[in-house]
Amino acid sequence: MPELVFFSGTMDCGKSTLALQIEHNRSTRGLVGMIFTRDDRAGEGKLSSRLGLVTDAVEVEDGQDLYAYLVDHLSQGRRADYVIADEAQFLAPEQIDQLARVVDDLDVDVYAFGITTDFRSKLFPGSQRLVELADRVEVLQVEALCWCGARATHNARTVGGEMVVEGAQVVVGDVNQSADEVGYEVLCRRHHRRRMTAASARAAALSPDVLPVPPA
Ligand SMILES: [Zn+2]
Repeated sequence: MPELVFFSGTMDCGKSTLALQIEHNRSTRGLVGMIFTRDDRAGEGKLSSRLGLVTDAVEVEDGQDLYAYLVDHLSQGRRADYVIADEAQFLAPEQIDQLARVVDDLDVDVYAFGITTDFRSKLFPGSQRLVELADRVEVLQVEALCWCGARATHNARTVGGEMVVEGAQVVVGDVNQSADEVGYEVLCRRHHRRRMTAASARAAALSPDVLPVPPA
């Protein structure tokens, strides 16, 4: 039975690497995939992983009907034996419904990869719809770690290293950002709740009021 599978996790947990692995495994068996993505770090029409692998993909646009796109593709006599949707948190809920229809009406497996929650620990609408509709949700076990060493379960947005909790849901940034730019950092829940990033933890460690008072 074809399935809609949602591979979910934090940023930096290896989602795109797994997407590329699935693509590689199937293409070496002679299968042809349709790869959708949105706002990949490598630019439009690319699916890339932090480990440096990259492949071409279809850049999904606002309001695009993914089911109609597949039907059109197949009706031209072209193949799509499976579908990969990376950065699926950026898809609209309607587009997730269209992917479910691809599974049910076209008998094609759909593997969606996405971040579950945003920097405020709220579900992305696309991810919420995937949780609602997926045949299976796989939480990726490639462990991203908080600066404290605990398992990172939450995404923080940072500006100049400080965690922010206000702002638009989608601002494209990366986990390796210089000061003053919007960046992202994965944290454990404890440090997400305390808004303590690696930079603010370092600053706190250097601050005189947390050091033992030297003898006079
Ligand atoms: Zn932590």
